[in-house]
Amino acid sequence: MKRTFMPAVKTEEELKALQLEGLRWTLSHAYKGSSFYRKKLDDAGIRPEDIRSLDDLSSLPFTTAEDLTEGYPYPLLSVPMEEVVRIHASSGTTGKRKVLCYTEKDVEDWTHFFARCYEMAELTTRDRVQIAVGYGVWTAGISFQMGCEAFGAMAIPAGPGNLDMQCQFLVDFQSTVMCCTASMGLLMAEEVGRRGIGDKISLKKMIFGSERSSDAMRRRIKEALHLDHLFDIPGMTELYGPGTGLDCVHHTGIHYWADYYILEILDPETLKPVPEGETGEMVVTTLRKEAAPLIRYRTRDLTRLLPGRCPCGSVMPRHDRLLGRSDDMIIFRAVNVYPGQVDHILSGMEGIGSEYQIHLERRSDGKDYMILKVERDQGVEKGRDRELARTIASEVKNQVMVSAEVEVLDYGSLPRSERKSKRVFDRRMEA
Ligand SMILES: [Zn+2]
Repeated sequence: MKRTFMPAVKTEEELKALQLEGLRWTLSHAYKGSSFYRKKLDDAGIRPEDIRSLDDLSSLPFTTAEDLTEGYPYPLLSVPMEEVVRIHASSGTTGKRKVLCYTEKDVEDWTHFFARCYEMAELTTRDRVQIAVGYGVWTAGISFQMGCEAFGAMAIPAGPGNLDMQCQFLVDFQSTVMCCTASMGLLMAEEVGRRGIGDKISLKKMIFGSERSSDAMRRRIKEALHLDHLFDIPGMTELYGPGTGLDCVHHTGIHYWADYYILEILDPETLKPVPEGETGEMVVTTLRKEAAPLIRYRTRDLTRLLPGRCPCGSVMPRHDRLLGRSDDMIIFRAVNVYPGQVDHILSGMEGIGSEYQIHLERRSDGKDYMILKVERDQGVEKGRDRELARTIASEVKNQVMVSAEVEVLDYGSLPRSERKSKRVFDRRMEA
């Protein structure tokens, strides 16, 4: 029989029973093993045995990114140090890095559900996976590779960047799957086109991690490389790393591994659940994590739950792609604006490219202005600029409730990067 990494549970009832068991285990494990959690729960007047149903989750205190930095270098540690077999750290652009510890079982669990991602993407052991993400202290490279090897496909640990080498590998090794950021996917699509090697490669699928990507950008990549599928893989260092879910071949949203963690979607202001289908902050509670369990960890990532069952029949629930970060929120003329909303509008429009920038400035009249820079799509006439600008401005007005001046630029004039592109330029304080 073919080896499977899919969950053993088949119904929602079984899943809920498993979640309750995992929640109760996590509470008692964290209470016993971590002075941080013991104090937090004692302060909230909660004993692990008080948890009798999944509804009791809402009575538990939150854990935040500040708790992680305060506990540096080994925050939330709930096992003796000798049981830790590995650490990972986030890139940590501001303040201290987030460092997370893993036991042997944590690494095994992570590998198992990462292999499930490849199974969900319908790879086979014949697939050759070019892993063009960062290797190092962060979680990406090693997890893509462990999952790939456990699944049984062939891993090509290429690392990020170096388009020349990536193209050579695509041709020489006949890679069928490439894992990278969407920005790098776009660069690859352009590079393969420029070199005219499209008919010499066998790439069928791309798996994108760690960056939001617009529909327009995805379409461009898929068409340019003649791919069958593009997948989104979510992940954060606090919650193991990449691989905590994947969209299946029906692409109806990201199935997340609810047998490993519980996902709540809460209003970032009130911290109450938003109605199903509405956008809010992802709050996660792990069910099996030993070294650094998470209890109602506020991720600051925004998304929404998708109701109903996917046509694939999986019992694993789905969330939408990430709509940005609750801390990326810009307050512009007293309106909360998430760059993800702008991204979402642009990605649904014909005639414009996938890159954009949001500039905010304060002018001599003392008022704030938003300038949205977008690119005219390849093959679209310059004569359409005014019409395109008008349509975008009116969509932004309708959906984000703010006025923006739209500038349409030539295709290719905004910078592309192999990593995350900077999209918001706030110069209001410089005026
Ligand atoms: Zn599905």
